[in-house]
Amino acid sequence: MLKRFIFSSVTDSMDSDINLASLQLTCPICDQSSKRLFRKDSFWIRGCDRCGHHFTEQQPTAKNVSKIYDGQYFQGDGAGYIDYLAEADLLQRLGQYYADKLQYYLVPGTVLDVGAAAGFILKGMIESGWRGEGLEPNPRIAEFCQQQLGQKTTVGTLEELQTKERFDLVMMVQVIQHFYNLKLALHAASVATKPGGYWLIETWDRSSPLARIRGRNWHAYTPPSRSHWFAPPDLEQLIAQFGFQEIARGNPNKWMDGPYRKSVLRYQFMDKAWGKPLAQGLNLIPDRLATPYLGGDIFWALYQKAV
Ligand SMILES: [Zn+2]
Repeated sequence: MLKRFIFSSVTDSMDSDINLASLQLTCPICDQSSKRLFRKDSFWIRGCDRCGHHFTEQQPTAKNVSKIYDGQYFQGDGAGYIDYLAEADLLQRLGQYYADKLQYYLVPGTVLDVGAAAGFILKGMIESGWRGEGLEPNPRIAEFCQQQLGQKTTVGTLEELQTKERFDLVMMVQVIQHFYNLKLALHAASVATKPGGYWLIETWDRSSPLARIRGRNWHAYTPPSRSHWFAPPDLEQLIAQFGFQEIARGNPNKWMDGPYRKSVLRYQFMDKAWGKPLAQGLNLIPDRLATPYLGGDIFWALYQKAV
C-alpha cells in the first residue's frame, strides 16, 4: 500500500515536469532500435525490436524521482497510514514467503532491501533468520522503518548508493520498474553484492496471459510512475550484463487487502458495460478481508553472481 500510494499520488506533479525527463529511443537493455507501441495517458510506450522490452519514451530523471519520493504519505489526516498498517501484515507475510523460497538455494545471511518502504517485508525476512537493512528514498518513511521497526535504513535511491557493505542478497521487490537509470542502479546493486551472492527481483510480467489479453489496458501500464515492463527473458538478459545468472523463478503467492483488490478490479473492467454493476458489487467486499492475488502477472526470479 505504501509504495502504491506514493507512486499513484505523484502522477500529476510529474506530468507538469516531463520536460525534465530524458528521451529514450533505443532499448535500455540491449541498445537496439525500438518502436512506439501505444500511448498511455500522455506517455509513449516503446517496444524493443530485438528483446521485446517495453519502456517509456520519456524516462524519469533523478529530479523526477525525488518528487516521487517527496513524502506525502505520512502527511494529511492519516487515512493512508491506517491503510498501510492494515497491509503491514500482508507485507510481512510476503517477506516470510520469500525467506521460505530462498532456503532451498542459500542459507540466511545479510540482505539489503531496496525500496524497503516502512520495512515490513524486511521484518518478515528477519523473523525468518536474515539480518537486514533497508534502502528507502523517502526520508520520513525511512525514519519510520528505523524507529518503529528498529531496522537500519539508509535514505536514498539505488542509483546513488555508496556503501562499503557487501551483502549475501540484494532484494528488489517491485522496484526495478521504477529505476530512473536501470544500468546505474544495477551496477550499484552488483557492487553491494558479495561474489557468489544473490539478487531476488519481483516485478510485473509483460508476457503473462493477463497482460497479453489486456494489451494496452493492462493495469501495470502506469507511466510515468513505472517506466519498464519486463518479461523473464529480457530481465535475464539485463541481469547477465552484470555477471549474474538466473537460478530460480516463479509466481509469488501474494495476498491483497480489500481496498487494493477493489481498485485493481475497477481499473481492469471500467471500460466494460458491466463495469458499473461490478464496482457496486465490489463495495460489498470487506476492506479487511485479505484474498489471494491470482492475476499471474507478477513473477520473481533469483539470480546468482559469479564467484
Ligand atoms: Zn532490447
